[in-house]
Amino acid sequence: MVLAELGGSISRALQQMSNATVIDEKVLNECLNEITRALLQSDVQFKLVRDMQTNIKKIVNLDDLAAGHNKRKIIQHAIFNELCKMLDPGKPSFTPKKGKPSVVMFVGLQGSGKTTTCTKYAYYHQKKGWKPALVCADTFRAGAFDQLKQNATKAKIPFYGSYMESDPVKIAVEGVETFKKENCDLIIVDTSGRHKQEAALFEEMRQVAEATKPDLVIFVMDSSIGQAAFDQAQAFKQSAAVGAVIVTKMDGHAKGGGALSAVAATKSPVIFIGTGEHMDEFEVFDVKPFVSRLLG
Ligand code: GDP
Repeated sequence: MVLAELGGSISRALQQMSNATVIDEKVLNECLNEITRALLQSDVQFKLVRDMQTNIKKIVNLDDLAAGHNKRKIIQHAIFNELCKMLDPGKPSFTPKKGKPSVVMFVGLQGSGKTTTCTKYAYYHQKKGWKPALVCADTFRAGAFDQLKQNATKAKIPFYGSYMESDPVKIAVEGVETFKKENCDLIIVDTSGRHKQEAALFEEMRQVAEATKPDLVIFVMDSSIGQAAFDQAQAFKQSAAVGAVIVTKMDGHAKGGGALSAVAATKSPVIFIGTGEHMDEFEVFDVKPFVSRLLG
């Protein structure tokens, strides 16, 4: 189920409940079951959905609600809050400060949109007066450095990489050192997204993180990966201290549920979303407006 359909299904379930003359246990259960089905079809992890249902039932205790209480409002409010809670880990991510050098390392599987997102993130900050720089520490994929170089050149952002060096840790460290000397305040390290063996990729992430000591590690995920999101996010979190999530391709057939799962797996907030292939198709992510829009 794509994101727009998820919103539609939840609004319909709420509308049906609103149409009922009396809101009793049966009506509430039907409404919650409908929402549960919609969330599961959108690839939200089963445990998250179950917890949400339990929480809403705890909050909306129909027997205790005295006559006169607007039950519909209370239920709608509880559902809104629970959806927000799923997307909000409760603590903000590290936010780089303009003028003070920060190292931000990007991790994610190949094809997730990581390299594109690195440039979008740099470009977004550059427009706000920052001095960003890009480091290509992906030595596994042929063409990775060319892609980053092309993007960086287009956006007039300094970049660092090598066609010869095969050690990603060495390049990452050299790049970070170089740009620190040049007084860049946002040093972005793009990393590999694939290896011959998955374990080698995670080991490499651990080594790059250990060597560059990033202030923030951002996990990039494609919004359409669905149920795989939880395990993927958790695996990256175990190799580098993921502190934020960026969800890409929200313009496509986004299932959305993956984002909820990635937040749960990394206990980190979604900070931006990618909404297209272009450099400026990138938006700050805010939980409440997102859920409001979802609910229509
Ligand atoms: P990487 O392998 O993770 O570095 O992924 P790339 O940055 O090379 O992106 C893979 C593909 O996804 C490219 O064709 C990008 O143009 C595309 N892409 C990245 N972000 C978005 C997005 O937000 N929306 C859309 N529609 N395409 C995207």
